Order: sequence, then structure tokens, then C-alpha cells
Amino acid sequence: MYFDPDQVNPPTHLIIGGERCAGVTLNDVHSPSRHALVRPVGWASDAQVDQAVQAARLAAPGWAALAPRERAGLLARFADLVDAHAEELARLESLVSARIYSEVIARDVKVVSGVLRYFGEFADKIDGAVTPTPRNSLSFTVHEPHGVVAAISPWNFPMILSSWKFAPALAAGNAVVLKPSELTPFSATRLAELALEAGIPAGVFNVIHGDGAVGDALVRHRSVDYVTFTGSSATGARIMAAAAETGLKQVSLELGGKGPQLVFDDAADLDRLAAMIARGITYNSGQVCFAGSRLVVQRGIAARLTAKIAETMHGLQFGETWNTAANMPPIINERQIARIDSIVQASVAEGAKVVCGGERIAHDGASFFAPTMLSGMAPDSIAIREEIFGPVLAVQEFDSFEEGVALANHAEYGLTASVHTRDINQAFKAAQAIESGTVWINDWGRRTDFTAPFGGYKRSGLGKDMGRPGFEKYLKSKAIWLEIE
Ligand code: NAP
Repeated sequence: MYFDPDQVNPPTHLIIGGERCAGVTLNDVHSPSRHALVRPVGWASDAQVDQAVQAARLAAPGWAALAPRERAGLLARFADLVDAHAEELARLESLVSARIYSEVIARDVKVVSGVLRYFGEFADKIDGAVTPTPRNSLSFTVHEPHGVVAAISPWNFPMILSSWKFAPALAAGNAVVLKPSELTPFSATRLAELALEAGIPAGVFNVIHGDGAVGDALVRHRSVDYVTFTGSSATGARIMAAAAETGLKQVSLELGGKGPQLVFDDAADLDRLAAMIARGITYNSGQVCFAGSRLVVQRGIAARLTAKIAETMHGLQFGETWNTAANMPPIINERQIARIDSIVQASVAEGAKVVCGGERIAHDGASFFAPTMLSGMAPDSIAIREEIFGPVLAVQEFDSFEEGVALANHAEYGLTASVHTRDINQAFKAAQAIESGTVWINDWGRRTDFTAPFGGYKRSGLGKDMGRPGFEKYLKSKAIWLEIE
């Protein structure tokens, strides 16, 4: 065991204006690893949502006025504290999410401290421009923060995905109100406490807890200037509408995906490829927006490749997130596992063949879903259309390049895609033809660098997180004109 879940003492309060406050309505937070109550958390009332936004509004001008280098320094101190509290943060994260403790230590915590340093360094590196005008005038652009940023994040990578929002927003000089998922509230609270300890002024980084209704109240608040969201496409659409109705606020949306692994007959090293494709759908038990959830494979190697993938899938080990042997964590809750199960059953009823898996697995009180491969579906099958958000790989076969690319292009989603071939021309032509915000060639998965923008086409999103665009969206530009007498 990496840690004893009974010895973890998670913080349950909200952080508003630098103060710890108890939310009002108590709601239970559960551990998916053993279906047990961890503890109740108080959700923010409407008045507390308002207090958090007002605290951010009050703190924003001072934070924006701070010398950019000073802001970068405070974010670097915040990053150091995140690293120094890696084990504590990882325990809070693993207790209530599906993130395996060793992965949180090796990756998630380092991503959080890394993005704080990366975006902190942008604070004094964004220049304006002097624009061409007649000699009797001078015009130049300056960049200013929006003011109050509402950030709403999901449960699948709670710390990482909230840091992709608060780190650049803070670095650009905004104040933030973060609402994490009601399922995984603890790490966000602790991060806001560490921000205060680092010297980031009270009110600059606030955290409130609650469900979708609390998120909605935050989005609709008239003093929020910008809304940044990661979650499902359905919620993204509701948030965009709410932001439009309450002041035409700008929004950025990181939404769902249904990523293809497009594999041509000439793909190299089938053992390595099978392991990569299996990982692409079983990592975090498939609860990943950029999961490679559709295998679109040329007929000549389909049987050999799927046999190897099934073999890898059989070797995976279910377990609690604190279990040292586990590499398949639980599904986040009963609702989600029932949804995965119902999609698999509906696909089978439509004629899909179960190559492996296909069933839920009860194991030491938690719910897991067996790594699953389905084949023989029609292109409009539910397993192809829907984001399942579980370890379910839908296999489709093709003959020609055109057919493969057509299958790889999803009708609604376009977050990520992979192309596997030894032919560089074929790889490049496919990458050009696939409608997706990211295309990996002979690879799958985000690396731990922060430079590449990430965000979807179509219903997968609006705008980018990470890289320069992931910082610049937190600024607005102003043209200043000076008449020369
Ligand atoms: P979700 O149900 O859309 O919820 C996301 C967040 O929005 C949660 O904090 C949720 O609160 C809140 N929320 C729900 N309804 C709201 C409303 N009307 N107004 C404001 N906030 C509201 O998504 P999820 O199930 O947590 O996450 C899984 C989804 O996120 C998948 O579709 C996945 O693909 C997507 N995702 C995308 C990316 C990306 O980078 N593109 C990354 C990760 C995940 P509660 O949880 O408390 O209800």
C-alpha cells in the first residue's frame, strides 16, 4: 500500500478572500477505490459564490498592478511549495479520484509545479506593438488581464486540469475563482492554501465547492469576466449559453473526445504498437479525454494487432489507487460504470462482437470495468458515436487510405488522433486530413512538456490550453493612440 486511506485528513473548506470558510449544504464525498464515504464537504451557497467573486474582484487590480517579475517570483514559490507537499497532495488526489498514487507523484504533481513555473515565466515576456501610423500620431497596443476568471474543472485529472487554468490566468494578472468537481474537491483546497503560503495575496486565488448548480451560479455572476472550462461537451454548451446570457463573457472550453488510432498495414513494431494502443484506452481506466478509443486498422494487420492488444489487456491489474500492484484504477462512480456497461450492452445488441472484456468487475468493494475490445460495429453504432469514458476500444477495419481517413474523422469530436505508419508521406497526408486539434504520428499521449497548445476541433472545444495560446487567452489587448501636436 502506498498510503493508508484511513489516515488521510482532507481539507473540506472553501477558500474565499484568503479565509477558510465552511460551505453550507453538506454532501458526501466517496472513494471510488472502495465505495466508501470519505467525508462530507460543504457546498457554497449563492451568497458564498458571490463573496468569492467579490473577493476576486477586490484583489484583481492589486495583483494586476504587481511588477510582472514579482508575480513570476510568487508563482515560482507556489511551485516550490507544491513540490515540497507532493506526497500530501498525491494522497488527497488518490483518495477520491481514479488517479493511482505513484502516477500522481511521478506526473500530476510535477505538471502542477511545472505549469506554475512555465506560465509564471510568461508574466514579463508579453510585449505590445507600436503600430504603423502617420507621423503626427503614435499608436501602441498593451495587454491587460480580464479581471476575474471563473475556472471549472472535471474529476478525471483534478489537479492537472485545474492548474492548466489557474496557473496561466494568475500569471497574466487575473484573480481566479476555481470550482473543482464535487467528486474530487480536496486537492484544489490544499493548492489554494499553498498559494497563500507562497505569498499570493488573499482573494487572488479562491476555491469554492459544489455541483453543477454552484458552477452555473459562478458562470452567471455578473462580476465574472472570463470563463475557462474543462469537462463534457454537453456541459460546455450549457456554460457557453449561460456566459452569453449574462454579459457575453468570453469562454474557453476543453471538451470531450473520441480519438482514433489510425493504423496502416506498414506500421512498425507491432508489439510496441499494441502496448501503446492498449495503454491509450486503459490508462486511468480510459477516463481520459484524449483516450485512443477507436482503433481504425487496415485489414491486412487487423487480426494480428488486435490479438496482441487483447494479450496486453489481459495482463492488467485492477486495484485501489493506493495499491502498489495496480495499473487499472476503479471507475469514478456507480453512475459512470452503469453508463459504460449500458453502452457496451447496447453495442452488443446492435451486433458488436466482444473480442475481450465486456463486463464490470467487482473487486474489494470497488467497481472496475474489464479492458474491453469491440469489433464488427456499423459506423453509426453507439460505441463509435459516443464518448464512453471507460476502457472500451471500438475496432473498425478499412482497405484504402481514403476509407481509413474517413473513418478516423469523427462526426462530432476532434480532440486528438494518432496515425501509425512507416511512410512519412502517408503519415503527413493523414495528419493533414484528420480534423483534430492534436495529431500524434507513431505515438499517443501527452508528454510532460507545456509548450504545445492543446484543444479540440468541432464539439471537442473552443480555444487552447497550454503553450503560448494557453497564456494569451487570459489577456485582452488595447490600442492606445496619442496625437502629436
Ligand atoms: P462534466 O460533467 O461536464 O463536469 C465538469 C465540471 O463542470 C464539474 O466541475 C461539474 O461539476 C461542472 N458543471 C456541471 N454542470 C455545470 C453547469 N451547468 N455549469 C457550470 N459547471 C457545471 O464533466 P466530467 O464528467 O467532470 O468530466 C468528464 C468530461 O470532461 C469528459 O467528457 C471528458 O472528455 C472531458 N474532459 C476534457 C478534457 C480536455 O482537455 N478536452 C480533459 C479532461 C476531461 P460537478 O462535477 O460537481 O457536477
